[in-house]
Amino acid sequence: MLIAKTIAEARAAVAQLRSERRCIGLVPTMGALHEGHLSLVRAAKAHCDAVVATIFVNPTQFAPGEDFAEYPRTFEADCALLEAEGVDLVFAPEPAEMYPAGTSTVVDVERISGRLDGQSRPGHFRGVATVVAKLFNIVEPIHAFFGQKDATQVAVLRQMVRDLNFNLELVVCPIVREPDGLAMSSRNRYLSPEQRQQALVLSRALRRVEDEIAAGVIDAEPLIDLGLAVLADEPEIRVDYFRIVDPDTLEDVSDVSAGALVAVAAVVGPARLIDNALIPPR
Ligand code: AMP
Repeated sequence: MLIAKTIAEARAAVAQLRSERRCIGLVPTMGALHEGHLSLVRAAKAHCDAVVATIFVNPTQFAPGEDFAEYPRTFEADCALLEAEGVDLVFAPEPAEMYPAGTSTVVDVERISGRLDGQSRPGHFRGVATVVAKLFNIVEPIHAFFGQKDATQVAVLRQMVRDLNFNLELVVCPIVREPDGLAMSSRNRYLSPEQRQQALVLSRALRRVEDEIAAGVIDAEPLIDLGLAVLADEPEIRVDYFRIVDPDTLEDVSDVSAGALVAVAAVVGPARLIDNALIPPR
């Protein structure tokens, strides 16, 4: 497995891979890898002839006061996991390599970047879209793999790929959970055992709402009330939102009959956690 620290090294390695094999799959990450990330790598291995993973804690997607400095960095362990999965190339640049002095272009996916998590984290998705566009230009993958866990990110990047005519397909992989239902996240490392227990209320609220939908309830309002009532069981957490939206536009829907995204975000101790469930059209 090759490790590239510079854009020039990454481009040279990708050119070599492309000359040997046709289809390159890209898995962008911020490191601190867990089974959720590895599920994307495995999907990329299954779809593509060569897999490029990136590890980059992108400073432009963290607002002042967010956890950029504290974000877990476990580079050696991450590389061992990626090598064991058969990844061909890891691109792990420093911030100055991606954003040299004088950088002034950003990718702003208007409107949708301000919805759902974008409403709570202004500017976050400008940072995400900008860095992902740069990674697409550096690696030029045919397929790029992202997790449904970050549903706002998926909607923003789909829109970006359409609008900027990136010649690639986004592949969205299902949420990987701990056996007790907690969605895997690098930020789960911030939780004390007690907070980790409290965090289970997010997936519990989603399951209850999914059960209710399976039982025939389609109106968003009672479903949201139910989700919020379940979340209220854990008074220690601070709910950011519990919403039912269109998965593509992220705008609120009044019922789930055409398919919907049920999404939740809450602050549990030091961590802001997100989770969601995709409801298929009936
Ligand atoms: P991150 O390192 O948090 O930026 O995540 C990198 C990629 O892994 C993103 O596409 C995430 O959506 C995806 N991912 C993170 N957690 C999970 C999970 N529990 N299940 C599936 N994909 C995930």
